[in-house]
Amino acid sequence: MESIASNIEAIRKQINSACIEAGRNPATVRLIAVSKTKSAELVREAFDAGQIEFGESYVQEFLDKYEDPQLDECPIEWHFIGHLQSNKVRSIIGKVSLVHGIDKLSTAEELSKRAVQHNLFVDYLLEVNTSGETSKYGLSSDDLLMEADALFHLPNITLRGLMTIASYDRVAARQEFRQLRTLLESLREIAPDPSKLTELSMGMSGDFEDAIHEGATMIRVGSAIFGWR
Ligand SMILES: *Cc1c(COP(=O)(O)O)cnc(C)c1O
Repeated sequence: MESIASNIEAIRKQINSACIEAGRNPATVRLIAVSKTKSAELVREAFDAGQIEFGESYVQEFLDKYEDPQLDECPIEWHFIGHLQSNKVRSIIGKVSLVHGIDKLSTAEELSKRAVQHNLFVDYLLEVNTSGETSKYGLSSDDLLMEADALFHLPNITLRGLMTIASYDRVAARQEFRQLRTLLESLREIAPDPSKLTELSMGMSGDFEDAIHEGATMIRVGSAIFGWR
């Protein structure tokens, strides 16, 4: 296997090319290295290669890495990208810069309640099930638009955009990325402060270039950096 540093360099080049093709500034796409199931030592290796933002999917695993002495001196920006259950909200609050996987009004309410309790302000994304696959988490577009108003008014948390996990099939995935972008546009039309609503977290190892063409502002890449899980 190639080294983590050379994998990251290769992905950065692919991001640049995709941005140039799409007529976008590469600085508008953030690379989130998905380190789930990988050790703190490998996270450290990626950090030393210049990677700052990391994504974790499981609460306990995230907390173990968050507290790992090997990462003590690393100002890592953590993203929680997994499905977040209400009863786990309090374990991660204040420790992550962005929560990607909120898929219910009730979880957003819990996030808001805990943020108020701890006097914190938390940014989050809503997960949308764009593929319609029942095995995937996420709100439907209709439910999201119906609940938007309630979501916008929850104290101490700010909706920054949308996240999706697309279909494995590339043609379908591209449609789903486009659908997420269109949904964000609809949401911005009804948002009290659309300037806050800017993020599209979409695209993984197999499809991030397509996602960039459709407007991704954050791509979540795991296996192309760290190897197979
Ligand atoms: C695991 C995971 C990824 C990374 O997937 P790769 O195909 O390994 O790049 C991205 N997003 C989420 C939500 C994940 O759980």
